[in-house]
Amino acid sequence: MLGVIIPAFNEEKMINITASAITEVLSNAKIAFNIIFVDDGSKDETWTNIKNVSMQNPCIRGIHFSRNFGKEAAIFAGLEFIEKEKIFSSCVILDCDLQHPVEKIPEMYALWKNGFEVIEGIKETREKESVFHKIASERFYSFLSKACGLNMKNSSDFKLLDIKVVKELNRLQEKNMFFRALSFWVGFKTAQVVYDVKDRVEGISKWSTFSLVKYAIRNISSFTNFPLVINFFVGAILVLLSIIPFVMIFKITESNFVSQEKFLMIIIFMLAFFAGIIIMILGVMGYYISKILSEVVNRPRFIIAEICRGGVMICNFPQLEKFPFSFKLAV
Ligand code: UDP
Ligand code: MG
Repeated sequence: MLGVIIPAFNEEKMINITASAITEVLSNAKIAFNIIFVDDGSKDETWTNIKNVSMQNPCIRGIHFSRNFGKEAAIFAGLEFIEKEKIFSSCVILDCDLQHPVEKIPEMYALWKNGFEVIEGIKETREKESVFHKIASERFYSFLSKACGLNMKNSSDFKLLDIKVVKELNRLQEKNMFFRALSFWVGFKTAQVVYDVKDRVEGISKWSTFSLVKYAIRNISSFTNFPLVINFFVGAILVLLSIIPFVMIFKITESNFVSQEKFLMIIIFMLAFFAGIIIMILGVMGYYISKILSEVVNRPRFIIAEICRGGVMICNFPQLEKFPFSFKLAV
């Protein structure tokens, strides 16, 4: 059985469209499947629509978060579900807006049947993205690829994973998870499928430039300590630069070629410059410390408020950390 995990945040218009598109493609390809919508604490009618669609189609299940925990959390909730249900042998992760082409799933599934354990969707075109987005995303992945030693160019969350891989991903208990990189990190026999990023069918992207920058910083720091290493080199360069004021003082005393005011301004400028760099370095260190804190505090990665299948509410327990799906589904 193939599990189709779909994170959904404020996607009320997409639930029916996406469910029908997947059902059509996978039924035609004669692939047994279940769709798992993970509603990431939507404010609109997404959860109501998931319950309605699951009423009409028993192959559709839904998980509803108590609030918005982010796409990564939604993906990992889906992966835990896949493992706990024990009926799945593979799963595919797909965006709810159909930007990841559903028609590619049978091709990915065929590769899985041929023994591949991770089938990655690789973006061929990024036509609709802004120039800033394209350049920023290219820089981000090339930096991350170099820093982590993984080739993540044009990668996306559109992946098909064997249950073996799912189990390994579920063993990683870090709170700052970055699915795209972790699915590289676990290794396994990998194949690639190239696809064109389609236009969003309905609704708007949930990512602003600011949230993308935050996403990049969070994920770089959760995957590499390279920024801390840079700190060391910045410090070393500053030590070398600090020779400049001494040289200048000697020059001034020799030839008196700079006025006292100018000299004072240079000193103030240099103090501000170095103070700025030191505060930046402390900021990077502080950020890493805050990440350690979030790991130590050990809060759950997400909280599930409700789960449904066939329109029936299976459970409703907000403090759920380990959710006993099989037990509840057997009721
Ligand atoms: N998403 C989510 N939680 C969030 C933001 C987004 O589950 O906090 C889902 C969203 O519903 C969609 C997928 O993640 O299924 C990709 O989001 P979006 O289309 O907004 O991102 P983009 O394609 O613009 O990168
Ligand atoms: Mg999208």
